[in-house]
Amino acid sequence: VSREMEQLLQAYEWSSKLYHFLLNNTEHGKPAMDYLKSRGFSDKAIDTFQIGYAPARWDTLVQFLEKRSFDLSAMEKGGLLSSKQDGSGFVDRFRDRIIFPLHNRSGKVIAFAGRILGEGQPKYLNSPESRLFTKSRTLYNLHQAKTEIRKSRQIVLFEGYGDVISAWEAGVHNGVATMGTALTESHASIMRTLADEIIVCYDGDNAGQAAALKSIPILEAAGFQIKISLLSEGLDPDEFIRKYGAERFRLQVLDGAVSAVKFKLIYLKKNHILLEEDGKVAYIKDALEVIAPLPSPTEREIYLKELSAELQVSFDSLKQECNQFRQDMQK
Ligand code: ATP
Ligand code: MN
Ligand code: MN
Ligand code: MN
Repeated sequence: VSREMEQLLQAYEWSSKLYHFLLNNTEHGKPAMDYLKSRGFSDKAIDTFQIGYAPARWDTLVQFLEKRSFDLSAMEKGGLLSSKQDGSGFVDRFRDRIIFPLHNRSGKVIAFAGRILGEGQPKYLNSPESRLFTKSRTLYNLHQAKTEIRKSRQIVLFEGYGDVISAWEAGVHNGVATMGTALTESHASIMRTLADEIIVCYDGDNAGQAAALKSIPILEAAGFQIKISLLSEGLDPDEFIRKYGAERFRLQVLDGAVSAVKFKLIYLKKNHILLEEDGKVAYIKDALEVIAPLPSPTEREIYLKELSAELQVSFDSLKQECNQFRQDMQK
């Protein structure tokens, strides 16, 4: 670790402590604390995740870092400060935002995500990538979750910080999240060193479900046993837990997570009107494209039987058509 990186790590650690202190103990932090409380975040969660508040002024961190003789231009490169327009100095990058510190695997703060209080754009402002922080390799909460993940060999993957935190409060201590970016091969291989099974628990809206679908080949390539959660009403996990409680989240959403094949079938089904004959026919075609390539005959049979029951179509004709698909695949 170079001296420059050590300085930046030190600055992130101290800044995160400052922001956490300002949230917990000052009048400036009160609106942020009220916002967090209104969303249902407990003091315990605020502490465990070292959540903080960056005040609205332009020089909270500038003053703090200057007093401690940090090289401000290195702090700008590291994402804590921004350059003034006219180049005459620096201002704080994070202002009037809730601060979620992002840690590396060994628990050192390497970046911040700053959320606006309430509505507004951008909702989240992240530190830029630096020599410490690469989005494609960072997983939120991995440093705290890794013990439980190793023990259970299972990991739960979320979309957002709030989801990880709510799930933690609901007793789910093996949850991590990406940084609002798509899942990468690096993320998958990092997770795979700790776990054999993964539950993808993305938001129930269209964007979340589409992202879950895209994650499947990446997780398959890493050799995971994959389960995918289905969230109703377009809720995200955080919203689901606040609305229905921890127990129902664990039983319905996590224990009720389905196989990748089943998820694909459910996903495809939404494009078709099954009350109409041609809708049924079109869905069967889509479904067979998922089922026919499965290498295991028993697995194919299981899904074909379900399809047969669901659509009131005979198993024999589905099987015949499935075999036709397999023959066509070989051409
Ligand atoms: P909240 O519950 O605080 O409203 P969320 O986590 O539910 O936030 P989503 O809109 O579902 O937010 O987005 C999921 C994740 O994507 C966020 O947690 C964040 O990591 C990332 N993200 C969302 N919006 C932005 C943005 N404007 N810039 C950067 N990252 C973002
Ligand atoms: Mn989302
Ligand atoms: Mn969300
Ligand atoms: Mn949310």
